[in-house]
Amino acid sequence: MLAGPRTPVILLPVGAVEAHGPHGPLATDTIIAATHCERTAAALAADDDPRALILPPLPFGVTRYAGDFPGTIGVAEETLRGLLLDLGHSLADSGFGHLVVVNHHFEPAHVKVLRDAVASLAADGMSAALLDLTRRRNAERLTEEFRRGSCHAGRYETSLILAERPDLVATDRARTLPELPVDMPGAMAAGRTDFKAMGMDRAYCGAPAEATAAEGEATYAVLVEMLAELVRGMVRGEP
Ligand SMILES: [Zn+2]
Repeated sequence: MLAGPRTPVILLPVGAVEAHGPHGPLATDTIIAATHCERTAAALAADDDPRALILPPLPFGVTRYAGDFPGTIGVAEETLRGLLLDLGHSLADSGFGHLVVVNHHFEPAHVKVLRDAVASLAADGMSAALLDLTRRRNAERLTEEFRRGSCHAGRYETSLILAERPDLVATDRARTLPELPVDMPGAMAAGRTDFKAMGMDRAYCGAPAEATAAEGEATYAVLVEMLAELVRGMVRGEP
């Protein structure tokens, strides 16, 4: 894998096992992250450089917000951090110097661990980056619902699952769910520490009834563009 003229860049999809409404799969974030990486690797396949390689997805994250809902299975910050550092060091020992963490679970404590772990690997000399969709410059390119912060099991995420794994969405149930606008980042900043306190009694917000595979396809196209830009920039040595 290290032979040849192309620089290998390792993509690590990161998700969570977490309740996603009465209609979506627990593995929603992991499926989206893995699909995002697979489609990006396909888009980069014709490039002279780099060559994208995908690790098996990391299915567990920090999931306290949804902890009241059965099926949410999370790990502690130290566990996630230790695993990421171990993976990074193991990759470096094998001669892989470029790692991009592709995360689709946006709980702040979880994102913070990813940011810190990537910074720590970078300090150890690895070329490591996080595709952080919660950063404004990235979020601005995504759908209106995502930008408004109603980004859990609503139209945005459900559309992404419908585009790739429609068999895993209870579509009839999704169509009956009323729109529930919740400014999740605002609620978190105001000190709400779980979905129920944010008014998300059924572990979703936004408008899952409006989700379509077509919107999911359009969003993947944007996500692929963002990740491909990051990967290409990384091997050119851009910060
Ligand atoms: Zn999700």
